[in-house]
Amino acid sequence: MINFGYKLMRDESIDLDRNDMRIAEYLKLNEPSIKLCIGCGSCTATCSTGHFTDFNIRRVHTFIMRGEIKHVKKEIQRCMFCGKCQLVCPRGVNLRNVILTINRAIEQIG
Ligand code: SF4
Ligand code: SF4
Repeated sequence: MINFGYKLMRDESIDLDRNDMRIAEYLKLNEPSIKLCIGCGSCTATCSTGHFTDFNIRRVHTFIMRGEIKHVKKEIQRCMFCGKCQLVCPRGVNLRNVILTINRAIEQIG
């Protein structure tokens, strides 16, 4: 078979009524600036960890907002908390506090 450089992915559907929205709700309540995010990706493009690994802070954010939190706990621990993402955010999202708040939510939710 010809190798096209990609493969078929498992079919995934998102059911917002069944997904776990607790971290998203906690985040919106405790760091409302996250609601200003327009998903531009500047945070990811400048991320220190992202330069050396496949860590993607925007992807983490997207998963949280979709309630797909299974891998968030492990993923967010890769952040070095350098704050570069916050410096470049055009919407003024307080990203360092977003990361702290996600960690606090994970501690509380388990
Ligand atoms: S840089 Fe700011 S607006 Fe852009 S994706 Fe990141 S958090 Fe959202
Ligand atoms: S604080 Fe974390 S997410 Fe933001 S640029 Fe630094 S390593 Fe990346």
